[in-house]
Amino acid sequence: MLSLLKQHWGYESFLANQEDVIASVVEKRDTLTVLSTGGGKSLCFQLPALMAPGMAVVVSPLISLMKDQVDSLSDMGIRACYLNSTMTSEEQFDAALDVREGKIKLLYLSPERLLAESTIELLAYSKVSFFVIDEAHCISHWGHDFREEYRNLRVIKETFKNIPVHAFTATATREVQRDIVGQLKLKDPGIHIGRIDRPNLTYRIYLRNNIMREIKGVLDKHKGEGGIIYCLRRKDVDSVSHDLDKMGIVNVRYHAGMSDKDRHVSQDKFSREEVDVIVATIAFGMGIDRSNIRYIIHAGMPKSLEHYQQETGRAGRDGLPAFCYMFYSGADYRLWSYFAEQSRDREVMMKKLGDMYNFASRPNCRHRTLVNYFGEELSKVPCGSCDYCLSELEMVEDALTVGQKILSCVLKVSEGRYGFGAGYVADVLKGKMDERVERLGHNEIPSFALMRDESDMFVRNMIEQLVGQGFLVKEGEYLTLAVTQKGKQLLLGEISPVLVKPLVAAKKKEITVRAARKRVEEWAEADRGLFQELREKRTELAANKGVPAYIIFSDKTLRDIAAKKPLTKAEFEGIYGVGQSKLTSYADIFIKVVKEHKGLSK
Ligand code: ADP
Ligand code: ZN
Repeated sequence: MLSLLKQHWGYESFLANQEDVIASVVEKRDTLTVLSTGGGKSLCFQLPALMAPGMAVVVSPLISLMKDQVDSLSDMGIRACYLNSTMTSEEQFDAALDVREGKIKLLYLSPERLLAESTIELLAYSKVSFFVIDEAHCISHWGHDFREEYRNLRVIKETFKNIPVHAFTATATREVQRDIVGQLKLKDPGIHIGRIDRPNLTYRIYLRNNIMREIKGVLDKHKGEGGIIYCLRRKDVDSVSHDLDKMGIVNVRYHAGMSDKDRHVSQDKFSREEVDVIVATIAFGMGIDRSNIRYIIHAGMPKSLEHYQQETGRAGRDGLPAFCYMFYSGADYRLWSYFAEQSRDREVMMKKLGDMYNFASRPNCRHRTLVNYFGEELSKVPCGSCDYCLSELEMVEDALTVGQKILSCVLKVSEGRYGFGAGYVADVLKGKMDERVERLGHNEIPSFALMRDESDMFVRNMIEQLVGQGFLVKEGEYLTLAVTQKGKQLLLGEISPVLVKPLVAAKKKEITVRAARKRVEEWAEADRGLFQELREKRTELAANKGVPAYIIFSDKTLRDIAAKKPLTKAEFEGIYGVGQSKLTSYADIFIKVVKEHKGLSK
């Protein structure tokens, strides 16, 4: 197994869980594998496919994803193909012929295609070693990406009785895992749950204030690196993209309101690294395999932690450090709850939304909270890679008192016939006198001017966090504040909120400087200038071949070249991610770049 790994993939050892999964697959036992993005799932079935006689059949939901996988396998010297509706009938005929003649080790299909009569027939006459269901969470209602056509996949076990089935996914809560096993009718499956945590991602979460300024701040830290800006709505995508254009920041857009063609153009430009910034709704997702995405910006809060995990998970697939920034606001919560209210799955959705809002607004180790949500423990706390553990958040020291001040004010002002929104409550706490305050006598209550020494921003910010943590709710059309059951406990001093101070400029600067220093260290001995030259060469090769850049080499490989500066084929063979096929195709080309960089070539 190790020699195949080295020969085709150019890796020296397996990643966590890979060996166990591969062993199960080789033993012909059904499996369910949950491994986080970047965990190396593909290898878990691609390598056994090479070892087994016959052909493995991989069901994958997206055509673009199939194409990338097949291109990538072909570049490693492994015979793979796909069958789908974008091919001409001649191409389909040729592919089917290759399958019939047993030339193919891996065949990729969409679920619809697999279930077509002609395909079932083709497979019945071929030697199928095993089936793989990729993105298997799509089968479950409890998942976040339910797809009707996945439901029919139970037919596999009914039709191909003795052929093993292997399900793979990156995110699955316990319910989703149960659903996958049940729906696919897996027989005594070997279940492999990897670590959910993505230690190479750094999470930072802020209350939103001025989104364009906030986005610009992040982009300034990541010049020349690939990143995705997720917005909640199409119109937000359009306006953010437009504002970036005005700032002279090259970017492309992606959302479901655009034509297929325009979306393709955007996706291609981003995958091929012609453009580094893409502004998108969550419609942009599963099909992207670009492995060197260095940052994700959430310009709004997603509707569940599954979504957050999945979307941030697209960063740093190459295992190098990557950064996730979220800017949330209570308005996001209200937007999602509005949709949830109208849905048949109301309860499930509201529960997920509540967990998400709590995650955003309650300062805590982000890695730990995420991992706990998926039913696991985090071994290392402080994690060293979230705003909380990096001590970037300044905590409010007397959070309980602050909470009590605000909640008692809310109680007091709502004693009358109607309640008040956050703005009014903040005014009373700040001691602002106006006609309404006077008329209602709120300048006489004990809460009046109780927080006069704090800034407006501080008071509003605290109210928002108390809502997020479930001590207050905003009700009705006017979003009036009310104290919840949990809030009453807070008033009694039985539980305390955990509150963060809004970031002030000085602290922001300190964080930026510290983060920048850490990023320089990351590069260690790799030569950044050489890295850029290698990257340009890779872009050129990728364009010639018409494939995304990461299919040639990952950033991790380029960094390794930039550090080791190999000058011979033998040295090049020792580079991370260089197998036999890549050695033959690319060693000379990249060695030349190294030589030129060192001034060694003619
Ligand atoms: P997933 O599908 O789980 O998100 P991938 O299969 O795309 O992950 O793998 C993520 C990255 O890790 C890829 O660049 C892949 O080549 C690399 N990788 C996989 N297995 C190994 C290994 N044993 N050693 C080093 N890198 C690996
Ligand atoms: Zn942490």
